[in-house]
Amino acid sequence: MPQISIEQLSHDWHALQGCASPAARECIEQLAFTHQKNLASHFYTEMLKDEAASALLTHEQVRVRLHHSMSQWIAEVFSTATQEQLAQRVARQIKIGEVHARIDVPVHLVLRGARSLKRGLGALLDQALVDDHALQLQAYAYGQAVIDIAMEIMSQAYSRSHDRSARAQEAYRLHAVAQDMSAERERQRAAVLDWENRLMFELAMGLPAPHLPRMGASEFGLWFRHKGAHAFRGTSETSLILETMDLIDERLLPSLDEDADAPTRLQQLRALHEHTQTIAFHLDALFEQNRELDAGRDVLTRLLNRKFLPVVLRREIDYCRERHANFALLSLDVDHFKQINDRFGHEGGDLVLQQLAVILSSACRAGDYTFRLGGEEFLLLLVDIDEARALALAERLRAQVEKEPFRLPGDCREQVTVSIGVAMHNGHPDYEYTVRQSDQALYAAKNGGRNRVERAAG
Ligand code: GH3
Ligand code: MG
Ligand code: MG
Repeated sequence: MPQISIEQLSHDWHALQGCASPAARECIEQLAFTHQKNLASHFYTEMLKDEAASALLTHEQVRVRLHHSMSQWIAEVFSTATQEQLAQRVARQIKIGEVHARIDVPVHLVLRGARSLKRGLGALLDQALVDDHALQLQAYAYGQAVIDIAMEIMSQAYSRSHDRSARAQEAYRLHAVAQDMSAERERQRAAVLDWENRLMFELAMGLPAPHLPRMGASEFGLWFRHKGAHAFRGTSETSLILETMDLIDERLLPSLDEDADAPTRLQQLRALHEHTQTIAFHLDALFEQNRELDAGRDVLTRLLNRKFLPVVLRREIDYCRERHANFALLSLDVDHFKQINDRFGHEGGDLVLQQLAVILSSACRAGDYTFRLGGEEFLLLLVDIDEARALALAERLRAQVEKEPFRLPGDCREQVTVSIGVAMHNGHPDYEYTVRQSDQALYAAKNGGRNRVERAAG
């Protein structure tokens, strides 16, 4: 999908400013600035009439904050600006669209808000310019165009992030039906054996080499060439399987000689069997890797990877809203991990990450989620929990890691510590907000000397 062109849009916005007379622009700018608070209230009153909106905006803090940002937005969007300032303004509209997508604000609500805003501005212009209809019309047209371009940018950003999250949802759904993948694995494993059995049978029956069943034409061969190789493309196992299959069909099978002496014959059959085994082995590895990836699991630690974070968090936020429940996020980072890598090599570091992952998973309850966000950073989502218990669990984890003798290459044992930031979900509908909160708490824990737990401020 192409990038949204900030340059083009700020150029368009600039042109739009240029079309309006300075008097019309100034008039709108003044009115918007003076009445920003009233216009924002008007906007929300209209929006809250909708059930979907009032469900989203139950959270008092959100309401206060949104009202504040809305009035700022109104004041800003109508102010005349240079092209550079407009580029920043465009970038902000993109951000707003992305936030709307994350918290699932229905597009029709935003458009309704825009409509009420246009009406509000129209009424203000009616009062302000009773004597100058020409200017009133110009100012009104300009005001409309400004709201339209802002909405256009937001919608573009909205639908792009929506597509992205829809794709992640889809992947999550596939993951939920991953049993199909394991059924396929069994089917293909059996198909390889079937082909080998049939080959051995035909050989025993004395079928000449040119008529022997080719692997490439077997159930497995057809599936792999047409589907498997495509599904697993880009992996070394895929090329190895394709090469081995060609080797069997083009070299080993044609060279099978009915009249060969017993030892040669045995050797040929053994080579055939070994190559078939190789294929079965690589196939297994492919399914295994795919299972990890498909399930959104990190291959090193088997924890969930970042990919499903938005899907899981959105679901938990909905759950909290419906059940008046609460969750906690724990951002966790290994202290001075670089030194472990420096002293014990990358494999040493990997070993620590694996052992840490086991500690984290066993500390969590069945309903909790453990993510490896990347490197030595982890995120724990603790469901149905209050702050006191979340903090206690974080402290327990910290202490447990501190006293765990981590195994390292060369039979070494090493002490490792972690810093943890804890944030409670406070009803904010944007999952990034809570992630940021726990990140900031983690940052504070690092600054406070590491090997400690900090809670998010406010
Ligand atoms: P701090 O206490 O501030 O967190 O210091 P730190 O050394 O842990 O943090 P920093 O971010 O400087 O270093 C993280 C290191 O983690 C750098 C990178 O080479 C290493 N790393 C990232 N991913 C992996 C991985 O998958 N395996 C291993 N072994 N190392 C990794
Ligand atoms: Mg670190
Ligand atoms: Mg780090």
